[in-house]
Amino acid sequence: MNVKVTLRRGRERPILNGHPWIFSGAVESISPEEPEPGSRCDVYSAEGEWLAAGYFNPESQIICRLVSRRQGEEWGPELLGERLEQAAAFRERIIPPETDCLRIVNSEGDGLPGIIVDRYGKGLVVELTTAGAEQMRDKLAKWLKKRFKPSFIYESSTAPARTQEGLGEVRQALHKDPGSRVEVTEYGHRFLVDPVEGQKTGFYLDQRENRRLAAHWTPKGAQALNLFSYSGAFTVYLAGAGASSVVSVDSSEKAIALAEENLAANGISAKDNPLVIADAFDYLRKCSEEFDLIVIDPPPLARRSSHVRKASRAYKDINRLGLSRLAAGGLMFTFSCSGHVGKRLFQQIVFSAALEAGREVRVLAHLGAGPDHPVSLYHPEGEYLKGFLLYAT
Ligand code: SAH
Repeated sequence: MNVKVTLRRGRERPILNGHPWIFSGAVESISPEEPEPGSRCDVYSAEGEWLAAGYFNPESQIICRLVSRRQGEEWGPELLGERLEQAAAFRERIIPPETDCLRIVNSEGDGLPGIIVDRYGKGLVVELTTAGAEQMRDKLAKWLKKRFKPSFIYESSTAPARTQEGLGEVRQALHKDPGSRVEVTEYGHRFLVDPVEGQKTGFYLDQRENRRLAAHWTPKGAQALNLFSYSGAFTVYLAGAGASSVVSVDSSEKAIALAEENLAANGISAKDNPLVIADAFDYLRKCSEEFDLIVIDPPPLARRSSHVRKASRAYKDINRLGLSRLAAGGLMFTFSCSGHVGKRLFQQIVFSAALEAGREVRVLAHLGAGPDHPVSLYHPEGEYLKGFLLYAT
């Protein structure tokens, strides 16, 4: 039997407007009183009108995640199969040339809250972020096996947001072992991905279109700097586009080791393109060189809304420091992937950084994740990655 969730009077508006989340503060009553995390639920208005179906987690502030506004449809294998097929078919339309890695399922953006599936060559990496998504683990693996005949399916459910759902980390093979390196191609560039020990599901697929754009804007012979480089993906694009030197900086030794392999896989000299294990803030403070192109792609500096103030200062510092090392006529790609730092706030932060750096700065492009990371129009929170291409004189 489904959990019955009744909202407080007047709290149905966001749901009628299509928003897929219900926060615990909007709920009047729950029956039965102590449902299992991840149970299916039906949501009713205070007047007793059925509104939507979804799944429920009493441990989470987001107490329900909605999946349907059609009566009779519910969180289960049938809906899962339909939405997965829709997501997979859409990716067939948008797969870029010379690319065999992309996101196949993007949580709410594909009507499948809590489920992420990334394709790496012939293998798949799954990430589940909610208790409701975990209920579908076996069904999902079965469906993926049938649809894609993958060489492996690995689960890397490591998002910090899982703790808010009362869940710990899960890393396990769901179908065959991926090994420690999977080779993929993105716009003709070769990358080694480590789904088991790498960050996220192994690679930052969300930056693909921005990497391509950065390559497009790279002046021949440019001196470039890639801060928070992870496995060197931007570096490979910039060096491939004719930069004479790209310095990559990351604080993780493992990331830099993988970057070294990625430079080699693309025939890029590690001598001309130094890989530096360092804190990016320190690196910039000590740096006296100027660069023609800088990429700043920090990890989410605000993981909770209570971190936004502190994170804003850090974003401002790194952007100010970056702008102060940018040559006249230089370009800077700057990003924030904190869901809690909205696009407007990020723009204000970059504005303050430019003012403090005393630079004349123009915005050439507004940046975000690629189309394999679709965002539901009704769920603006899904738009976590935002960025600007800046031109400083
Ligand atoms: N641009 C990359 C993804 C960056 S993810 C890509 O396209 O693949 C953010 C990276 O920042 C991670 O690799 C993490 O190890 C690194 N990092 C976190 N804190 C850091 C710091 N203070 N200084 C330098 N690197 C840091």
